[in-house]
Amino acid sequence: MDKKEKKRIYLSSPTMHDEEQKFVKEAFDTNWIAPLGPNVTAFENEMTAYTKAAHATALSAGTAAIHLALKLLDIGPGDVVFVSDLTFSATCNPIVYEGATPVFIDAEPDTWNMSPEALKKAFEKYPHPKAVLCAYLYGTPAKIDEIMAVCEAHHVPYIEDAAESLGSTYKGKHTGTMGKFGIYSFNGNKIITTSGGGMLVSEDKAAVEKALFLATQARDPARFYLHSQIGYNYRMSNVVAGIGRGQLLHLDEHKARKQAIYRQYKEAFADIPEITMNPLNPDGDANNWLSGMLIGKGCDVTPDMVMDALDEENIESRPVWKPMHEQPVYAKCDFIPHNGDGSSVGSNVFARGLCLPSDIKNTPEDMALIIGIVRKCFGR
Ligand SMILES: *Cc1c(COP(=O)(O)O)cnc(C)c1O
Repeated sequence: MDKKEKKRIYLSSPTMHDEEQKFVKEAFDTNWIAPLGPNVTAFENEMTAYTKAAHATALSAGTAAIHLALKLLDIGPGDVVFVSDLTFSATCNPIVYEGATPVFIDAEPDTWNMSPEALKKAFEKYPHPKAVLCAYLYGTPAKIDEIMAVCEAHHVPYIEDAAESLGSTYKGKHTGTMGKFGIYSFNGNKIITTSGGGMLVSEDKAAVEKALFLATQARDPARFYLHSQIGYNYRMSNVVAGIGRGQLLHLDEHKARKQAIYRQYKEAFADIPEITMNPLNPDGDANNWLSGMLIGKGCDVTPDMVMDALDEENIESRPVWKPMHEQPVYAKCDFIPHNGDGSSVGSNVFARGLCLPSDIKNTPEDMALIIGIVRKCFGR
């Protein structure tokens, strides 16, 4: 059978329920088809109720939320920002939008997130960064206490890129609610989606209000259009927020399903010593947005071989994020490794890891098929 005729199994595709359409219909029925309206306000309130974040502004993308967090910290040319190296480019691109300089901080092997040790080394080299920006890969919280302790010792604000970790907790608190700013994403393949969208959260009410001002073209209070600052068109639309409200009702359910997928892979590969799953933080409860696996050193099987074998059956998988310090566009930026010998933990994870299909609509048959293909790659 041709590959294209086989059922497609996705890495992580949107899962819709009935409530989304109800909220979207309300938006149509009341003609609130605009980047403001009752769904936007309600979605913000429901998100703060869920995460226990103090204040929120709904935006057009997670990337927009990161950009505004940096603007609110007055980051600009000449400023250094310490940022996760092993992440998606959207974490660090906004640093460059503002003309500031990213310094990439290596991952550590225990959670695949920013290494507190590398972060300490970075402060020795660059004593005055303007912010520390850390992503929580695949939904696993970083060693947040250790990282925040370093930030606090140097009086530097901490920004949490919780785009992948909505619903994950660390020591009982939601990721995104512990730093100066937290950001969430509702992009198409995230644990809940609005087709595209993001949110900025913070305890600082004035800052979140300023984010709203900047996201809506920075109009000064006047009858005519008066601007004393550069604004952006970053606000979430009322239609999109309706999808978000419906999705949020199912976040816990999505999380439970993602966690079950992770556990099933872990058990299915438990007898194969060459395979380990992406690490979880024992101090956290991860949403397991994507299940990842790492192939042991010295094993002949490569991530490409596994991804090719899955692709043969029309099953989607994906490499681990390629570290930012290995990206051509960031070639001139500094990188602070975790290991004393200068080797990069992130590069090693990239070379030996991959993301397995983590779609919550996978059937037991789909899971059995995926597991069988992976096992076969390892001669089982
Ligand atoms: C998805 C993602 C973003 C960007 O979010 P968008 O809503 O797509 O702009 C930022 N950081 C990380 C780590 C992500 O995975």
